[in-house]
Amino acid sequence: MDTEVDILIIGGGIVGLMCAYKLKKNRPKLEVVLIEKEQYLGDHSTGRNSCVLHSGLYYATNSLKHIHCIEGHKQWLSLSKELDIPINLCGKYIITNKVNDSELDKLYQQAIANNVKDIHYVDSKKIALLKQDLYIEEAIFSKNTGIIDIGDALKKLRYRFEADGGIILTSHQMIDLEIKSKHFKTTIKNKDNTLKISSQVLVNASGLEAINIRKKLNLDDMGNYYAKGNYLKVSPDPKYKKLIYPIPDKDLSNLGIHSTIDFEGRNRFGPSYQLCDDIDYSMKNSCIEEMFKSISSNFKNIEMSMLSLDYCGIRPKVVDQNGLIKKDFIFNTEEFHKIDNYYEFLGIESPGLTAAPSLADLLVQNL
Ligand SMILES: Cc1cc2nc3c(=O)[nH]c(=O)nc-3n(C[C@H](O)[C@H](O)[C@H](O)COP(=O)(O)OP(=O)(O)OC[C@H]3O[C@@H](n4cnc5c(N)ncnc54)[C@H](O)[C@@H]3O)c2cc1C
Repeated sequence: MDTEVDILIIGGGIVGLMCAYKLKKNRPKLEVVLIEKEQYLGDHSTGRNSCVLHSGLYYATNSLKHIHCIEGHKQWLSLSKELDIPINLCGKYIITNKVNDSELDKLYQQAIANNVKDIHYVDSKKIALLKQDLYIEEAIFSKNTGIIDIGDALKKLRYRFEADGGIILTSHQMIDLEIKSKHFKTTIKNKDNTLKISSQVLVNASGLEAINIRKKLNLDDMGNYYAKGNYLKVSPDPKYKKLIYPIPDKDLSNLGIHSTIDFEGRNRFGPSYQLCDDIDYSMKNSCIEEMFKSISSNFKNIEMSMLSLDYCGIRPKVVDQNGLIKKDFIFNTEEFHKIDNYYEFLGIESPGLTAAPSLADLLVQNL
């Protein structure tokens, strides 16, 4: 027999979990179930990124990326206090080795247009100091950019959601989906069984699988492709205390191979940008040489022999029927796809981690 619930969320990455947490907090009487096909939450993009809380400086003004990055950043700071989630606002340099680099100035102007707080050009004294480690002529510094302990965030959000009566089923994969009598009938498989959940509302927060899942509802007006990003460990550790980014690609498909910091203070380099057909997290040693070209053009004192494979993540890229790339996040309601009570998050690439609390508000406000 079907189990009946009010809301079923597919996907236990940060977007699905944040939606679950906020729904239960704002509408405590609703029965909310989240299913995740992996054994652990956050095993895909959410656990395979730079863990950077972005300030919102890159994105087209008033795009969803801009609006939700700024609001999401603000909300993470409150959540960090409320749930005791570690955040380190270490700050970030964006550097160039050109003098009077118009690309750097464009970024600075974009940041100002986006109302990004605490961003400034780095003075010449500081540039001289940075020259010890970097090929640098100019830089801007974003004081509000930092890192978040996403593993801890997932744990705390999950705990609160479950304490509020929400249900999370890990190792449960949605394998089929249909609409009958205005209800979503979702077939779910775990190791031993197949079960059916009937829900009034369905939320597709399945990240890399989101386009495939909407096809089960006969929505085939969008396609997707993937772009892999590799990360490298570096030893001995250069001990950079701040995030260091190059000028990004012009179309912002990639923010560029940067140095990140984790909560143990270790640096790593990444992510690269490489189109791929499948969700395959294997890494090839050949990427070290490719990435070294970019790393060694910005970072001094880094030898190729200091680099080794760490992990990789995959970005979901959405295209429309004409093959045009959708550059912004997509949040669709029935207004777009004409299916009542179905909500979908598509193309949630960077800065999706930062934006997640605010993206979840979109769902809560629309229900
Ligand atoms: C290389 C890289 C670097 C990034 N760096 C940053 C950064 O520094 N800062 C930032 O803000 N953002 C960053 N991002 C973006 C950020 O990681 C993502 O936007 C965010 O994690 C997306 O979360 P999600 O919940 O949408 O997707 P995911 O984390 O992928 O979660 C989707 C979940 O759905 C599950 N699922 C799929 N199909 C099914 C099914 N049939 N049944 C049940 N469950 C299913 C999957 O197993 C998965 O766990 C980066 C992304 C990448 C790839």
